[in-house]
Amino acid sequence: MLNALATYSNLVSRGISLPSSLCPFCNTEVEDLLHLFVKCKFVVPLWKNILSWWNSSDPIPVDLNNAFGSTCYQMGSSNACKAFYASRLILLWLVWKWRNKLVHSPSDKRQSILNEDVLVDLKILSFLWLKNRSKLVLGEFEDWRCNPLSIEKH
Ligand SMILES: [Zn+2]
Repeated sequence: MLNALATYSNLVSRGISLPSSLCPFCNTEVEDLLHLFVKCKFVVPLWKNILSWWNSSDPIPVDLNNAFGSTCYQMGSSNACKAFYASRLILLWLVWKWRNKLVHSPSDKRQSILNEDVLVDLKILSFLWLKNRSKLVLGEFEDWRCNPLSIEKH
């Protein structure tokens, strides 16, 4: 499924000619799935932040399997594990959305887009999705924002 995404390297492998296949965030490496979602220096801090938000001692992902695998190394509860997994998938979606915004905006907007705080969006969106689309019981947004493990109290 992920390989269907129109990353620059996927477009080139489909025979589409592009002016550049470099990552639109860093402009230094070819944009493939591994780079875009795991390795890019603009994305690594997001992984650090999501792990910190969840108070997880899981390692920062080094490949797509551990970025998006459903394993929770350090989480006992299955509800927390499910919510943590959902948060990571939402991060994937937000990185793709962020990347597309960067690619399709005028160059004078580049810096302000790069400065956007994706973690804030992640906290809001994951709360709304889990609250409205899952069977997990969440408390108030403020509890979730500060400590998603508060899901255990409900
Ligand atoms: Zn990059």
